[in-house]
Amino acid sequence: MSSRTHIIDNALGAIGETPLIRLDRIAAQEGLQCNLLGKLEYTSVGGSVKDRIAKRMVEKAEEEGKLIPGKSVVIEPTSGNTGIGLALACAVKGYSVIITMPNKMSLEKEAALRALGAEVVRTPTEAAWDSPESHIGVALRLQREIPGGIILDQYRNINNPLAHELTTGPEIVNAVVATPSTPTKPSSGKVDVFVAGAGTGGTITGISRAIKKTHNPDAIVVGVDPKGSVLAVPASMNEEDSGTMYIVEGIGYDFVPDVLDRADVDTWLKTGDEESFEAVRKLMRVEGLLVGGSSGSALSGALRWLKSEPGKRIAQTKSANVVVLLPDGIRNYMSKPWFLKMALEAEPTPLASTISSILKKS
Ligand code: PMP
Repeated sequence: MSSRTHIIDNALGAIGETPLIRLDRIAAQEGLQCNLLGKLEYTSVGGSVKDRIAKRMVEKAEEEGKLIPGKSVVIEPTSGNTGIGLALACAVKGYSVIITMPNKMSLEKEAALRALGAEVVRTPTEAAWDSPESHIGVALRLQREIPGGIILDQYRNINNPLAHELTTGPEIVNAVVATPSTPTKPSSGKVDVFVAGAGTGGTITGISRAIKKTHNPDAIVVGVDPKGSVLAVPASMNEEDSGTMYIVEGIGYDFVPDVLDRADVDTWLKTGDEESFEAVRKLMRVEGLLVGGSSGSALSGALRWLKSEPGKRIAQTKSANVVVLLPDGIRNYMSKPWFLKMALEAEPTPLASTISSILKKS
C-alpha cells in the first residue's frame, strides 16, 4: 500500500515512491521494440533521487547517536541535490546545515538550499577533489573548526547505496513484476537492462544490487559517465576527453568515490553535453517530462547502448524491459543558458503564425 494514500507525518514521508513511466513515443521514434521505461525521481518531495540517501543518512546517524538536535551542524559537500535532501530533513528535525557546492551548480539549487535554511559555500569548480579549495576540502576545513560539525559523507557512507538497494531498486523491480504481460504490451516480467549516470555512484551501485541479488542476476547494468570524468571502465575510455569541462550537473567526478562499486556495473558509456540536452528536449517535447540534464545523459546513453552491437537484440525484443533512471527535474536548471536556449529559442509551433495573424487583424 502506498503511503501517499494517507496523511503523511512530515516531508520525509513524501520521499521516493516515484513512478515508472513508459517512454513509448521516444521508443517509436528510435525504432525500438522493447519497453523503454523512465524512473521519474523529480516527483520525490525535494525534487531528486538524492532525497532518499539524505533521509537514510540522517536517520542512521541519529540512531547511532551522532546527531544532537540544537547542537549538531550537518556539513556536506554536494552538487546540490543531496544538500536539498539534507536541508529539508534537517529543517524538519532541527539541525543546522552548511552545504559546500562547486560554482558550476545552478542558482536554483542554491536558492532552494537557502530557502530551506541552509548556509551555502561556493567553491571553484576546477579545484581538484583533494585540494583544500574543493567542495570536499572546504567541508573538511569547516568541520574541523565548527563545534558540533559532522559530515555524513555521501562519498563513503554505506547508507547512500543502501538507500537505493532498499527503496529505489525494489520500487523498480516491484513495478515491473506487478505489470502483467499483455498482447499489446508484452513483458518479460523482469528488469532486463538498467541504465543510470553516476556521481557518487550510490544510485547505480544500490539499484544494481537490488536487481541482481534477488531479482535477475542476468540483468545488464549500463553506467553513464560524462566526457571529462574518470568513472568509466576501462580507464582508457576516460583518456580521450580528459580535462574536458562539462555543463551537466550531478554526474561525473575526478576521483572514484568509495560507494561506487564498479563491479556492479557491466558496461559504461561516455556522454557529451549536447546529446544530453537533446535527450532532455525529447523527454519534454514528446513525453511531457520536465527532467534535468543528467536525465538526458542517462537517456542518451541508453539509446546509444540499445543501438550498439551488444544492445541491438534487446532493443528488438518486444518483452524486454529497459529502465532508465531520471534523477531530477528541470526546475533545478531554469536559469541555465542551455535550458533557456532550448525553451525560448525553440522552433515556433505551427500555431505561432495563426496566432500572429489573428492578433494582427484587430
Ligand atoms: N543526477 C543528478 C542531477 C544528481 O544530483 C546526482 C547526484 N550527484 C546524480 C545524477 C548521480 O547520483 P549518484 O550520486 O547516486 O551517483
